[in-house]
Amino acid sequence: MTLQNGSQYIKSLKKLRPNIYKWGKLIEDVTTHPATRLHIQSVSLSYDAAFDPEQADVFTTNSHFSNQKAHRWNTLMKSPEDVAGNIRMKRAQFRKTGTCQGATCTGWTILNALWAVTYETDQELTTPYHSRLEKYLRYVEENSLVLAGAITDAKGHRALKPSQQKHKDSNLHISKIVPGGIIVRGYKAQICGVAAVHEILCVPGNAYGESDKDFALAFAVPRDVQGLTIVETRRPSDTRDEEDGWDSPKAGAITQAYLLFDDVFVPEDRIFLQGEYAYAGKFIEYFTALYRSAIGACVAGQGDILIGAAINMARANGLSRKIFQDKLNQMAANNEVTFGLGLGAILLGNRHPSGVWLPDSLLAHVNKTQVAKLPYETKLLAQDISGGIAETGCFPSYADFQSSEYGQHLLHALAADADGETRARAARLVEWLTIGGGVPGCMHGGGSPDGAKLVVRALEPWEDYAASALKIAGITTELKDPIIKK
Ligand SMILES: Cc1cc2nc3c(=O)[nH]c(=O)nc-3n(C[C@H](O)[C@H](O)[C@H](O)COP(=O)(O)OP(=O)(O)OC[C@H]3O[C@@H](n4cnc5c(N)ncnc54)[C@H](O)[C@@H]3O)c2cc1C
Repeated sequence: MTLQNGSQYIKSLKKLRPNIYKWGKLIEDVTTHPATRLHIQSVSLSYDAAFDPEQADVFTTNSHFSNQKAHRWNTLMKSPEDVAGNIRMKRAQFRKTGTCQGATCTGWTILNALWAVTYETDQELTTPYHSRLEKYLRYVEENSLVLAGAITDAKGHRALKPSQQKHKDSNLHISKIVPGGIIVRGYKAQICGVAAVHEILCVPGNAYGESDKDFALAFAVPRDVQGLTIVETRRPSDTRDEEDGWDSPKAGAITQAYLLFDDVFVPEDRIFLQGEYAYAGKFIEYFTALYRSAIGACVAGQGDILIGAAINMARANGLSRKIFQDKLNQMAANNEVTFGLGLGAILLGNRHPSGVWLPDSLLAHVNKTQVAKLPYETKLLAQDISGGIAETGCFPSYADFQSSEYGQHLLHALAADADGETRARAARLVEWLTIGGGVPGCMHGGGSPDGAKLVVRALEPWEDYAASALKIAGITTELKDPIIKK
């Protein structure tokens, strides 16, 4: 069964062992718990889209193995069209739910980056990883799974290597090699969408040298594997979602988790790197090229909803769209810049010998620097257009609206051109998208912008530019950086 619908997906999650905690308590059923259900609902819409004739082309594609239709997020991206399919799907997902779906994103990108890395290790070191990964990917595709991707370690002291940390568990590592597999332990942090997935792919969080070979590992585990405790961490903006009033946006809500691996056994057939430290950096290179070409599409999709939410808010306030057209134009330009940069990175990419298409690193990293900037301006403009009602602290709670003493007065006080309830709903969406549970983590999601800037600095041919400018200026003397004697 390569395709499942939303309710089949939700049913399949119910079968997993409860191992996710929030507010100090075990979540018995992630599909109904207020902290996780909205995220799962939004992923279920992506499953349902496979059966909607108008959306099926965006959310599915043909498997490169079986040529059968599969959910797009479980397939290899072997052409520029395949990778563009990723960014089109992401924009569509955000337009459906207003926020990140996590579960159909990082894990998929990891699969593709590992496809290239394991091809190289098998070629150069005669490891068995690529064929193992193929077997795993077929399993994922055939069972219509969704995967989280765990790259970010808890890290510990930022200026020290994993092997130099006071607590070795600050970074996920091989603790013991045992017959038939390995035992792993340590922490991964801030992992998106875990509550909504069947499996988790764990990979190196950085480029490593020989002293850190225990940390150079890649493997897959079921989300409910023995020894793994998950702590759901989305806060504090989620409290409004958990209020469950009519004024809460009903779709979306990103989830985030800490993963605590306490001596987890990983069988050989699920291990895709085991100490080959030289390939950790390669993995990061391929992953970031793919991921950072796509993140501009997510924020563009959210920006589309922000434009709509701001227009609705203006109208609910009694003002026309035209009054704010300049600001709306700027919002649209921001969205298209990050979407277009990603598309450019894809177009200038190359096919890796393993078959996967890798976007151009320079443009992908430039995109990350813009994703860490432009969506904030888009949010600011949405708040600017909407008025104080859309900023937190200026809005009564759902419980207050229910008061028999003063609820009706509050609704009258909120009414403008639209009635109080309509204006409240419109305002809460802007609030949720700009400072609430809908914020997708533009700054650090997919890595820090400073990391991306380092790559831009390394890849731009600065000296070629200087040489060209010399020629055009007609300068024949050599210009060099001055050497300043101290
Ligand atoms: C919404 C969201 C979703 C996410 N989803 C996922 C996910 O699904 N999977 C996943 O694996 N991760 C995920 N992450 C984690 C994300 O990848 C990290 O937040 C990101 O890589 C930055 O790491 P950090 O938060 O530990 O920041 P830090 O490492 O603490 O960095 C803070 C600042 O210090 C700088 N810095 C850090 N170390 C150094 C150094 N040695 N020298 C100089 N400067 C330094 C950084 O550039 C940054 O500016 C998510 C994050 C967010 C916010």
